[in-house]
Amino acid sequence: MTLTEQILARASGKNKVEPGENVWVKADVLFTHDVCGPGTIGVFKREFGEKAKVWDRYGVVIIPDHYIFTKDSKANRNVDILREFAREQELPYFYDVIDEMDGQWKFDESRGYLKRQYGLKYAGVCHSALPQKGHVRPGEVLFGTDSHTCTAGAFNQFATGIGNTDAAFVMGTGKLLIKVPATIHFLLDGELPKGVMAKDVILYCIGMIGFDGATYMAMQFDGPGVSSLSIEDRMTIANMAIEAGGKNGIFEFDLQTKAFVDFRCALNNTKSQYSPVFKDKNEKFVKEFVINLSRLEPLVACHPNPANCQPASRLGDVKLDRAYIGSCTGGKLTDFIAFAKIVKNKKVVIDTFGVPATPEVVRELQNTIWEGKSIWQILEDAGVQMTENAGCAACLGGPVDTFGRMNQPLRCISTTNRNFPGRMGHKNSEVYLASPATVAASALTGKITDPREFL
Ligand code: SF4
Repeated sequence: MTLTEQILARASGKNKVEPGENVWVKADVLFTHDVCGPGTIGVFKREFGEKAKVWDRYGVVIIPDHYIFTKDSKANRNVDILREFAREQELPYFYDVIDEMDGQWKFDESRGYLKRQYGLKYAGVCHSALPQKGHVRPGEVLFGTDSHTCTAGAFNQFATGIGNTDAAFVMGTGKLLIKVPATIHFLLDGELPKGVMAKDVILYCIGMIGFDGATYMAMQFDGPGVSSLSIEDRMTIANMAIEAGGKNGIFEFDLQTKAFVDFRCALNNTKSQYSPVFKDKNEKFVKEFVINLSRLEPLVACHPNPANCQPASRLGDVKLDRAYIGSCTGGKLTDFIAFAKIVKNKKVVIDTFGVPATPEVVRELQNTIWEGKSIWQILEDAGVQMTENAGCAACLGGPVDTFGRMNQPLRCISTTNRNFPGRMGHKNSEVYLASPATVAASALTGKITDPREFL
């Protein structure tokens, strides 16, 4: 069986499962956020009763992250609903934007959009927060009300996005009926050359198979090339499995996975036992690809879909209005480091917005010093508008006052993961998806630029 089949077999109490088979799967963790949480809670209460309790207090994780730092009262109300529910259910893993369980968050004009407007519990973008807070474990099943839940496949788990109704069912019962996906195999070989990043790997895969090329399939990444990819690289790759229609993305377990998960579970005092799955000689795939990482080059997914990929070096005539670094795909610490290395001691020539994925990334950027300056300061000195308000921000457009949102028909190069029309705001805006290095180089020139020109 493939890695995905092994996890689904174990979670459904079977010795063996086959692609296409429907099985009842036990969930280890269910998470939701401020956009889908209120709807999920509404269905849960309607179907299980006003006084019903969730199946496992420790299995439900609630992470407000999408429309947080906004004056929009409906968006603020969504977070209030999550708070009420977490209080009523006594949920230990609710990463609220404020510290008081009976308070309400209000936009603070004196701090504006750039200065921190959250308390100590706040965790930032769900897909980055889940591993940081010790909620991902190899061999487990994670369901989340967000399509990029597949990010956690980086940790050798079955992680997939589900709708509010399914999530309400999991909330009440701890299980879900799942059709076992067939698996596409991506065997990675070699090492990434300078200037080429994990984002380029996944753009290459999506460009090759199409934005529907893995519809309802697992995308399994393994092979000798994986060891050269950091945990954050693997997260970037697994994160975008859904951009090819994938049910999930999944990586092999290795010592890097173990070190990360063990450290994070111990740090946060979360469950520390787990059983990874390993490659099986008899695994069967529907398609197989071998990807030599050393032959890849910086790529850009052009408007209007993530499979519309071309080498950055061939897009030099595409002029840009804006650059954006952030999101669960491209707002991690290593993403900002790659970006900062390129813009250091230079100036961006277009509006450039920086949104760290989590408060932890903010702290690391502010506390890591390069030649007497913090990385944060280096980015600000280069002209990047950095916000301490970690979250999804303009990745999904959001309310009209969202930091970095495109309220006009602009053209933006972005480290985010999706570029369908209107994704980052105005319906006539255009989004070009690229690695942090390519976005940084392009911010310096005002047109799409191969980052290798700056290395
Ligand atoms: S950062 Fe973007 S892709 Fe990631 S969870 Fe938020 S809105 Fe979704």
